[in-house]
Amino acid sequence: MTKKIPVGHIDKCQICSGKNLETILSFGHQPIVQNYLTEERLNEPEITYPLNFCYCPNCGLAQLDYIIDPKLVFPLNYPYRTGLTKMLIRNFCSLADTLEKKYHLTAKDLIVDIGSNDGSLLKAFKDKGIKILGIEPTNAAEEANNKGIRTIQGYFNEKIASQAVKRYGKAKIITMTNAFAHINNLFEIIKGINIMLDDDGIFVSESQYLSDMMQGLELDTIYHEHLRFYSLKPLIKLFSLTGFSLVDAETISAAGGSIRIYAKKGKHPASSRVNKLIKAEETAGLYDVKKLKQYGQRMINAKQELMALLTNCKQKGTRIAAIGSPARSNTLLGFTHIDSHLIDYACEKSGSPKIGLFTPGTHIPVVDEKKLFEDQPEYALVLSWHIGEELIKIMRKMGYKGKFIMPLPTPKIVINI
Ligand SMILES: [Zn+2]
Repeated sequence: MTKKIPVGHIDKCQICSGKNLETILSFGHQPIVQNYLTEERLNEPEITYPLNFCYCPNCGLAQLDYIIDPKLVFPLNYPYRTGLTKMLIRNFCSLADTLEKKYHLTAKDLIVDIGSNDGSLLKAFKDKGIKILGIEPTNAAEEANNKGIRTIQGYFNEKIASQAVKRYGKAKIITMTNAFAHINNLFEIIKGINIMLDDDGIFVSESQYLSDMMQGLELDTIYHEHLRFYSLKPLIKLFSLTGFSLVDAETISAAGGSIRIYAKKGKHPASSRVNKLIKAEETAGLYDVKKLKQYGQRMINAKQELMALLTNCKQKGTRIAAIGSPARSNTLLGFTHIDSHLIDYACEKSGSPKIGLFTPGTHIPVVDEKKLFEDQPEYALVLSWHIGEELIKIMRKMGYKGKFIMPLPTPKIVINI
């Protein structure tokens, strides 16, 4: 397979090259979610790109039909750090424990993490005395190396894989967490994995799960960083096209619901867990264009209800702030047209690099969360709603007295959890 997925508009499925992509939901044109603006840049034009959530009826892959140059979406100074999210650290420790037990890992084994960010997952393996190597394109690689997590800075491909094998040997396990759906050169990545992985090694990947996304109306997981939204059937197809087999899968709670998959070189049967999950996917309508469009319609309904709720609060003369400004929330704000006329400001924890900047597209100022406690606006929109319950408890404890607004899946006002 030498297939290359180009940058720009694509009219073919990213896995099977099927030409009949169906648009399930169009978000119009949206900016890159990490492109926060300085005050000066508010006077400049702002670039936006098509954001269409599509589906391939041939192999069942949900995907975008526009790919932005990865250098723009993941620049060297890409701000996201996995080590700052407690929920992710907990998940990484649990993944390291699971893999150590399942594959009887010893100090001789090498674990390679592709898209290793600041090395948070590899640290969990290193703490167990297992050999590690990270591969990461952004400057997060430097931070990882400074912390003693061995990391090569670069985009993973066949060349990097060959060089790494010469230097460090083959890997018993290759992991990719929240990166396998992000990279456009999917087939090149798998070629690299083929070079790096032991013949009896395992490739383990975690990505947001289409099933949770659709059933939970998590429309804010749809943005340009996520090129594909995985369910199991298209993954089985992908691995069979590239000389691998999907052997096992399990659902995990990370990032609003994710799927962890296991693949091996050669032909192997899938576990009973895989077959059970596929049945549940079929029941949920993940391979049915009509049902997918119904989910899309429910997302549009949620958007309209949220707008009505916020407008109603605002018309009564109350103030609304937003708690947190996660990158993913910019799809929700942009799609719903929630801007600085509705939201006075978005609060981030002290020290966040977003403080002093403005949200892309919607231009809501981002401020230190201290302002929320001083100001006490009547309402606070919970933008990290997928960890909303935890967040509401913390904000109450810290002294916020107003009401909370949960935006999704059903927009509602919450006083107490
Ligand atoms: Zn396809």
